[in-house]
Amino acid sequence: MTIGQRWWRALACMLMSIGVPACAQGDARPARLAVVGATVIDGTGAPPRADMAIVIEGGRIAAVLPRADFTPVPGTELIDGAGKTLIPGFVGMHDHTHVPGNTFTGDVAAGLWIAGGVTTVMTAGSAETELEIALARQVAEGKRIGPEIVASAPYIGGPGDSPAMFHPANEAEARGFVRDWSRRGTRWFKLYRHTEPVIAAAVIDEAHRHGGRVTGHLCSITLAEAAAMGIDGIEHGLSSAGDLVSGKAPGACRSAVPLLDSLDIDGPEISALIAALVDHDVTLTSTLAILESRFAHRPQGDARSLAVLSPAARERLVAYRERLKENAATTNWTPATWDNIRMFERRFVAAGGRLLTGPDFGRNVVPGFGNQRGFELLVEAGFTVPQAIRIATSNGAEALGFDDRIGRIVQGYEADLVLIDGDLARDASAIRDVDTVFVNGQAIAPDPLIEAAQGRFGPQ
Ligand SMILES: [Zn+2]
Repeated sequence: MTIGQRWWRALACMLMSIGVPACAQGDARPARLAVVGATVIDGTGAPPRADMAIVIEGGRIAAVLPRADFTPVPGTELIDGAGKTLIPGFVGMHDHTHVPGNTFTGDVAAGLWIAGGVTTVMTAGSAETELEIALARQVAEGKRIGPEIVASAPYIGGPGDSPAMFHPANEAEARGFVRDWSRRGTRWFKLYRHTEPVIAAAVIDEAHRHGGRVTGHLCSITLAEAAAMGIDGIEHGLSSAGDLVSGKAPGACRSAVPLLDSLDIDGPEISALIAALVDHDVTLTSTLAILESRFAHRPQGDARSLAVLSPAARERLVAYRERLKENAATTNWTPATWDNIRMFERRFVAAGGRLLTGPDFGRNVVPGFGNQRGFELLVEAGFTVPQAIRIATSNGAEALGFDDRIGRIVQGYEADLVLIDGDLARDASAIRDVDTVFVNGQAIAPDPLIEAAQGRFGPQ
């Protein structure tokens, strides 16, 4: 099959998957293909390598070599990479299958993730766990186009959190919940803002006994307390750091946001907080795409993102923007706050911390395009393009324990790759120009997937 034929096949497959999820992808894979002449940014943080040849065979990366050393085996399908950049598929680490209000959006998200170059996601808390697990299985079985989905259990919360979350009454209930969801195959657990410390400690301990991982969007528990408990990851970064609130009673939720505007980012308090996270090997997940939407002085979504929102989601966004404008004079989400949140992520990485990234969804932030925005914002925050690619790819793979097979462009790894039109190292916004996404070596064109998602993401 030519690339063009495969694209049409991908479209047919995807259209079928909207109604009847029945489309085997296995036979769509050519024996051997090669991307020739592209610049490679390999996900390790290493500098870009120009004019490379990457051979894909049997769904894996068979060779990575300078084009000058490449002689194609007869029958190899050649893809012209001149003027393009090849990166590993993004590993989204805060990529829900729902939006606020708990509408399940996984069906529409699956195609958008691929179109945006996202080939693996961890959902960081689920609202419709059964649907999420079913979607993950359909993708794994090749019945629909989508990223590899690492499902997470329903959110764990406490008094003050949404009643839709699970609120364990005691440690035994918390442990039973973790055992139950571990049996059903979810390895990731998410603690929400009002989780009580004794419950959090029980969840973390029980999850680790079952090979699971725990992350938190915290408030009642400080980041340092959570690190000492053995939590694996912190979501959203500085904005959830109760550590900064002086006099906070243990277990009480007090927002740190009003303090971020005047924070001394290079002071001893922040250094100690970062050290507490790094010493305990706690990852931090950057969610700059959704955070940006809180700041009136920042862009509020590009046309591509707005076009895929459902009419109801668009209405919500219009109302949200009105409130943003009305509150601009009194909000705590000031330009200085935005700078400090971003500098915290820089300082964390400089101190040896492992930063991950995921967009979180809602307002103008949608799957795929939101992941791309998160990448752009990391570069804008001062990370180099290879650093930001590493954060968006191999760092996530490491956190998932998948770093022996995805997240890097090296021989033997799965061929989850994104061919970008343009020189990404020079211009981070080239990330928006996805030419082809390779999922297990299968070439997929983004445009039909984006077309199929128009007006469909969000509450119906
Ligand atoms: Zn979230």
